[in-house]
Amino acid sequence: MTAQPETIASTTTAPTGKRVLLAAPRGYCAGVDRAVVAVEKALDLYGPPVYVRKEIVHNKHVVQTLERRGAIFVEETDEVPEGETVIFSAHGVAPVVHQEAAARQLKTIDATCPLVTKVHIEAKRFAADDFDILLIGHDGHEEVIGTSGEAPEHVTLVDGPDDVPNVVVRDPEKVVWLSQTTLSVDETMETVRRLRERFPALQDPPSDDICYATQNRQVAVKKLAPEVELMIVVGSRNSSNSVRLVEVAIEHGANAGYLVDYADEIDEAWLEGVQSVGLTSGASVPEVLVRDVLAWLAERGYGEVQEVTTAEESLVFSLPRELRSELKARGLATTGVSDRA
Ligand code: SF4
Repeated sequence: MTAQPETIASTTTAPTGKRVLLAAPRGYCAGVDRAVVAVEKALDLYGPPVYVRKEIVHNKHVVQTLERRGAIFVEETDEVPEGETVIFSAHGVAPVVHQEAAARQLKTIDATCPLVTKVHIEAKRFAADDFDILLIGHDGHEEVIGTSGEAPEHVTLVDGPDDVPNVVVRDPEKVVWLSQTTLSVDETMETVRRLRERFPALQDPPSDDICYATQNRQVAVKKLAPEVELMIVVGSRNSSNSVRLVEVAIEHGANAGYLVDYADEIDEAWLEGVQSVGLTSGASVPEVLVRDVLAWLAERGYGEVQEVTTAEESLVFSLPRELRSELKARGLATTGVSDRA
C-alpha cells in the first residue's frame, strides 16, 4: 500500500512565495466509498426514501447530499417503518441491532467497512477463547459500540493512555488488545506500551486494526507538518480520523491546525504571517470540498500548489452482498464510484 514518496509541483499563479502543500493520500477511503455508493445504489433500486441508521459516514456534506436524494437518517431501527429498507453505516453495528431489525421485518443492507468487520471477527474469536479484550478507542464512538457489542462480557474500553490505570482484568495471562480503526497510531502505541507495563503477557491483534487509510493519511501529514505554519484539515468534527489529523499535524511541527467542513469556515486571521499552508482531508471527505479550499486559498495569494505523495492507494471493496445480488438480478451494474473526483 505504500510507494516511494514523490512530490508533484504545479504553479498556478504568479509566484508570491506563498504556497500550499497538498497531502496525498487524502479524502475518501475504500470503506467510505463503498458505503456512500451503497446508499446511492439503494436509492436507484428502491427509490426514496431509503433509511440509514446513523450517519452513513461522518461527513456533513455527504449526509446532506444523500438527504437531498431521499435518504432518511435515523438514530435507531425503531424509527424505520416496518418492512422498509435500512442501511447500516460504515462504522458497524452490534449484533443486537441486526436482531432488532429482523424483529421489525426490515430489509437490511450492511455497509460496515470490511476493515471494521475484521475487528468484530477478532473480538468474537478472542471472546470465544475467553480472553479479556482491551479495546482501545473513544468512549461513545459508534464503531466502539458496535465492536464491544460482539462480546460485551469480554471487552473493556481503554480510552487512551491515561485510562490504562483504570483497567481491571480477570487473568493478566490472558489479555489481548484490539483497537478502533481510526485512531492516532502514535497515541495507540503509547497506550499499548503502558498496558504492557501492567500486563506483560498482553497479546497483539493478529494484524493492524488501525486501517490503511487512517495510517496513510497520518503519514502524509507527518511529512508536511514540519514544512508548514498552518495545517487545514477538511473534515467534520465527529470524524475521528479527521480530528486525529489535526492533532498529528500539531504534534509534528505545524504551528497551528484547524478542522473545517467547508472553505467558508476558514478564518482569514489564520493566514497572518503564513507562507506555507498544509492541506489534507479525512477519509470521509469528497475531493470537491478540498478543491473549494484550494480555490479559496488561491484567491488569497496561495496559488502555488505542491502535492506531496507518501503512498499510493488502489484498494476497492465490492458492494454489500445484499445489494450486489439484487442489482445483478435486475441486470444493473454492481460497481460504482461515488463523488470522489
Ligand atoms: S477509515 Fe478505514 S476502517 Fe473506516 S471506512 Fe475507511 S477504510 Fe474502513
